[in-house]
Amino acid sequence: MKLKTLEISGFKSFAQKTKIDFMPGITGVVGPNGSGKSNIIEAIRWVMGEQSAKGLRGDKMADVIFGGTADRKPLNRAQVIITFDNSDHYLQTDYTEIQIARTLYRTGESKYQINGTTVRLRDIQELFMDSGLGRESFSIISQGRVEQIFSAKPADRRAVIEEVAGVYKYKQNKDKATAE
Ligand code: ATP
Ligand code: MG
Repeated sequence: MKLKTLEISGFKSFAQKTKIDFMPGITGVVGPNGSGKSNIIEAIRWVMGEQSAKGLRGDKMADVIFGGTADRKPLNRAQVIITFDNSDHYLQTDYTEIQIARTLYRTGESKYQINGTTVRLRDIQELFMDSGLGRESFSIISQGRVEQIFSAKPADRRAVIEEVAGVYKYKQNKDKATAE
């Protein structure tokens, strides 16, 4: 599975519709402080179902909508569309290409879509479940998180490594079985 494109409009600092095409290999994003690099990563987490406004450095979810600058009026809608190439069927669906869209209006109205069809948040979460790409996964490590991991207590650090290695799920099952 590969990340193909990301379209951001009205989300955080991206007032204008911005489309990023991901080429094969590693992608690096460079730019001065405050230019929106972290906002790109947050757009990816948001469209994949992030529910915590704090996790997106805001107080409430509407804070992700472009709030205006000195020379640009605030917007009423944030939208992020992400497209994955799923020709290897890594995500368990028949689709070879998956497009997920999330839209939020200032009124609070919100919408999730998979390949153009309106779905529930749950459907998005289910799509990524057990893929290692979910909301709480370690496939996205945000700024500050690295220090947090290295300064953690050994037991907590071990939990992170176990989760990444995919051992955690089995350990939980084992603990459950032992308790029974
Ligand atoms: P650094 O190199 O310091 O990590 P960065 O490139 O990661 O910087 P971001 O944190 O992605 O920068 O972007 C911060 C910018 O996004 C700030 O200028 C902030 O004002 C702007 N921003 C965040 N939310 C909104 C919003 N809702 N509306 C408009 N601008 C916003
Ligand atoms: Mg940053």
